[in-house]
Amino acid sequence: MPDNASAQSASLRGQSLDPENWGSLRALGHRMLDDMFDSLEGLAGQPVWQKMPDAVRDAWAADLPREGAAPEDVYHRFQQLIAPYAVGNRHPRFLGWVHGGGTATGMLAEMLSGALNANCGGRDHAPIMVERQVIRWSAQMLGLPANSSGLLLSGTSLANFCAVLISRSACLGAQMRQDGLGAAKLVGYASAGVHLCVARGFDMTGIGAAALRLIPTDDRGRMRLDMLQETLAEDRAQGLQPFLLVGTAGGVDFGAIDDLSALAEIAAQQNLWFHVDAAFGANAMLSAALRPRFAGIERADSVAFDFHKWAQVPYDAGCILVRDGEAHRAAFARNASYLARAARGLSAGEPWPVDLGPELSRGFRALKIWMTIATYGADRLGAVTEHCVGLAEHFAAMVVQSPDLEMAAPVPLNIVCFRVCGLDDHQHTDLAADMQEAGQVVLSTTMLDGRVALRAAFVNHRTTEDDLPIILSAIRSAIP
Ligand SMILES: *Cc1c(COP(=O)(O)O)cnc(C)c1O
Repeated sequence: MPDNASAQSASLRGQSLDPENWGSLRALGHRMLDDMFDSLEGLAGQPVWQKMPDAVRDAWAADLPREGAAPEDVYHRFQQLIAPYAVGNRHPRFLGWVHGGGTATGMLAEMLSGALNANCGGRDHAPIMVERQVIRWSAQMLGLPANSSGLLLSGTSLANFCAVLISRSACLGAQMRQDGLGAAKLVGYASAGVHLCVARGFDMTGIGAAALRLIPTDDRGRMRLDMLQETLAEDRAQGLQPFLLVGTAGGVDFGAIDDLSALAEIAAQQNLWFHVDAAFGANAMLSAALRPRFAGIERADSVAFDFHKWAQVPYDAGCILVRDGEAHRAAFARNASYLARAARGLSAGEPWPVDLGPELSRGFRALKIWMTIATYGADRLGAVTEHCVGLAEHFAAMVVQSPDLEMAAPVPLNIVCFRVCGLDDHQHTDLAADMQEAGQVVLSTTMLDGRVALRAAFVNHRTTEDDLPIILSAIRSAIP
């Protein structure tokens, strides 16, 4: 045989990326797993966050490698250049933003779903059943009907975006998906404390961010119902078409919860789609003690929420639930021959996730959620949220008792916003950065009443009462 022919037949014989030596990769894999267990077990003794040295930053400017490297070398780079410089949200004293802490169970689930490599865009296989199970459990958690439709997404940003899409097509009818928005002048309503991703949803759907009316809030951060009614009346008088009312159940600044029952009532009277952004609040509904704070959510047409925040599932894991499954499907379903359905075989199993959201190929997000809920149970996950609310209330009491600190907002849930007496905006911003760089406690800042405030969000299941005095003393040692 000529040389090039033998080279070709050699390559046709195989280009498998599986290891030649499974034994050594297996040993490396076991070591990785042990290292990660060690790192989770020893979290409290590690800095919450540390700044990347310049050498680490520079390592990320390398050119595309033409040649591979030994798996051990690549893992070594993970250990040296990545693992020590992550966000820090696993740590019990990460209180910066509403970030989940993750769990060892979730980590293992990620490994298992990676190994299965299932494509969950559709077709008839068990991973889709797991997702449907998770959606049913979510409906139970929120008190929506058991046959509610739903989809797992990367997070609440995408879930809120989907809610705008679904409510838009529910309002204008399916033909709008062919013809575009045309002359429709849609307007929607949310509290001034709504997460910015809802305005982005208006922007990305072509409705325009200005069509989201931001209604002023009361002293507990709740949408003012009188102002909502007034704005609705004005908009109707202007010939605009109100279509969507967004309630917030756990606001991003300090955890405000709108009066969801009142909003449900207004939405029903005004014929508006009632959507609730319960990004982290939803998980608190697993606690019998906290559940009443969300009364009215069970009347929502759709709810967006995350598992990766308060339910401690590893990133990313968000969800949209929709009461009317037909309205949900009508916003996304479209026929294509390569997505043809069959009565049996792998192409059976309607409805497919591709009919319920913007993605086709998508990973097996459901496994880590299912494993988390199956392992810990709903009550235990609810108890974690109750514990965090207890810590927030306790910490708020410590702030109130500290003559050098003052509260900046009420504490409806798990977030404490406060200020150091006598410090201006810049000093608060610097103080948060100084604390982050010191690595003992991570807090963030937010704007309240036009002024910077410090924010401590209690989300992590690993945080305990013993952390509270450490947090206070870290603040004090950072005060200029
Ligand atoms: C976190 C959050 C979001 C955005 O969710 P992602 O999962 O980060 O996309 C939206 N709304 C609220 C209230 C949030 O707390």
